[in-house]
Amino acid sequence: MVALTSGWLVLVLGRKNRRAPQDSLKDVESLSNYGGAIVTKRDEAYTVRLIPAKRALKNYVCPGCGGNIAPGVAHTVAWRSDYIMGDSAAIAERRHWHLRCWNIF
Ligand SMILES: [Zn+2]
Repeated sequence: MVALTSGWLVLVLGRKNRRAPQDSLKDVESLSNYGGAIVTKRDEAYTVRLIPAKRALKNYVCPGCGGNIAPGVAHTVAWRSDYIMGDSAAIAERRHWHLRCWNIF
């Protein structure tokens, strides 16, 4: 459990250094305005939102299968809802999943 938490921390710090602050802030604000279902997966609580096809505008890499999620494909975005680093960091670390991959995660 301790090892897993450190892994998340390293991931956050590494990502943050490569990311423009304004970009993250805008993402956090826009995502915070939407509700989301809280689900528990593998003993971790996640906030999950459905991204409808018309709002899917970018390519994403699905962490479930490693495959591409193309623009125009409805999918799920999820982030940790009890993240030790806080909501902003959790949202900055959100991942986009194929619906099927998220369901079987
Ligand atoms: Zn996938």
